[in-house]
Amino acid sequence: MAFRINCSYCSTTSIFKVKCYHTKTFDRLNWRPYCFVVCDNCENGSLVSFNVNSGYQHYYTDFEKDSVVYDFSELREARLVPENKLTAPEHLPSILNDTYLDAEFNFSSSRWKAAAQLYLQSIEFACIAAKAPHDEIESQSLSAQRMDLTKRINILFDEGLITERMKNWAHKIRVLGQYHKHRYVEANEDDTKDIREFCELFLKYLFTMPGLIQSREERLEARKVQS
Ligand SMILES: [Zn+2]
Repeated sequence: MAFRINCSYCSTTSIFKVKCYHTKTFDRLNWRPYCFVVCDNCENGSLVSFNVNSGYQHYYTDFEKDSVVYDFSELREARLVPENKLTAPEHLPSILNDTYLDAEFNFSSSRWKAAAQLYLQSIEFACIAAKAPHDEIESQSLSAQRMDLTKRINILFDEGLITERMKNWAHKIRVLGQYHKHRYVEANEDDTKDIREFCELFLKYLFTMPGLIQSREERLEARKVQS
């Protein structure tokens, strides 16, 4: 038996084969298998458990030999350990956080083009929000300006908000997605993985790092006041 699951380690939907299992009857009607499963893509192990009505028990035998693949979302009261939660880098402005999580959702469902489009949109929002990190109204007026991503990246560099290496990398990623040319980007799985990796680092550099530094500074300031 195997399950189709969105992996908590590699964030891709892949097939998890059952390596071993233990079953437990917990009331008159229900029976619960606990399966140790391994992701086909990254080979990390997880635990899957779900409920089976005792009337259907005969469908679930010889887990290791059985070649049926069940969709995790269709199992009753299923649990996955470790749980798969979509996360975004810390200290992102809320609109950017939402866009990034939408990108992650599409990435985890193997919708490469949609994910690439949303990662590139996140990079664009990041360019805008980095210029006015604490002012949503200012960000809105900046985003209303018609300007392509190339120019926005160059401006960040000119204002000293990103390094030259990061600027060059951003241009390579932007060209990869052809974001400036089409309404919908062309990106396969590998392209999307590159765009995702860059996007995560770009957001961490522009928001997470300054956010962490600021909160540490505030803590040190508060200490000074106390002493
Ligand atoms: Zn995996």
